[in-house]
Amino acid sequence: MSIDQEIEKAAQILAKASNAVASCGAGISAESGIPTFRDPGGVWERVDPSEAATSEGLIATLKRDPQKLLPFFMELLETFERAEPNPAHYALKELEHMGILKTVVTQNIDNLHLEAGNTDVIEVHGSGFRMRCLSCEWSKNYSRRELISRIKQKMSDADSFTFSDIVELMPKCEGCGAVTRPDVVMFGEQVKDIPRSFEAARKCDVMLAIGTSGVVYPAAYLPFQAKDAGARVIVVNPNENAFQSVSDVYVPLKAGEAMERIVKEVKEIVLDKK
Ligand code: NAD
Repeated sequence: MSIDQEIEKAAQILAKASNAVASCGAGISAESGIPTFRDPGGVWERVDPSEAATSEGLIATLKRDPQKLLPFFMELLETFERAEPNPAHYALKELEHMGILKTVVTQNIDNLHLEAGNTDVIEVHGSGFRMRCLSCEWSKNYSRRELISRIKQKMSDADSFTFSDIVELMPKCEGCGAVTRPDVVMFGEQVKDIPRSFEAARKCDVMLAIGTSGVVYPAAYLPFQAKDAGARVIVVNPNENAFQSVSDVYVPLKAGEAMERIVKEVKEIVLDKK
């Protein structure tokens, strides 16, 4: 089938849906300027995940050589500060508005689905803009620019850093005054809200798998669970991914273009029926 036919088929399926779920990976935010980690040229070609993506490895690296990861952190801050929702995020919001999409399950930590306007967003890898206390139950959501400008301001006041300087960059717990950390899931840590995500996948009528390679588990189970429970599966990804065997429709385009075109056709189908 041609890409036009795949888009037409995706739109026909979605136009009949009332309980769709989108399972999204880093690819949906690539057009917001946040590069994926695993693709060619991605972060993991430059930074060793064992030094930066596990909490033990990160703490050990920062204690051994506090300057080593600063360029990486600066790059992350700049990238996340500039990022805004792109047409794919807004397309998901429109699908929710039309009563087609119920839930977004995202592996992303960038807050862009909520900023685009989706209301039921399950952040299985947490959020980079929620800080949680390491000592008590306290946590707080910050606005993207508030948190980043606060951290950048503190960074610009110093030329070099010790481990404790880096810890001091984070806001203090407003409950007990202890140290906080971003509420993101590092390698080896417990993924969040998986029972609710699996339930959404098992109950949905359509599963949209957007910008996800399907190699990060347990999130990668979602399209398979949905398919097993009888849902149609629509995959949007310009590159090969793990969902080929379960996809009813495969749109090999970037998320922004694909989702914009799909939602435009859904609207035409829905309007024709009125
Ligand atoms: P991943 O394994 O889901 O791979 C990214 C996928 O996106 C690939 O399959 C790639 O083909 C696809 N892709 C690339 N550009 C695309 C585009 N424009 N449109 C649609 N698809 C596109 O994710 P990863 O990069 O290996 O990251 C692993 C984990 O790291 C994620 O699960 C997430 O928790 C975290 N992460 C988050 C962000 C974010 O918050 N935006 C960014 C990078 C990584």
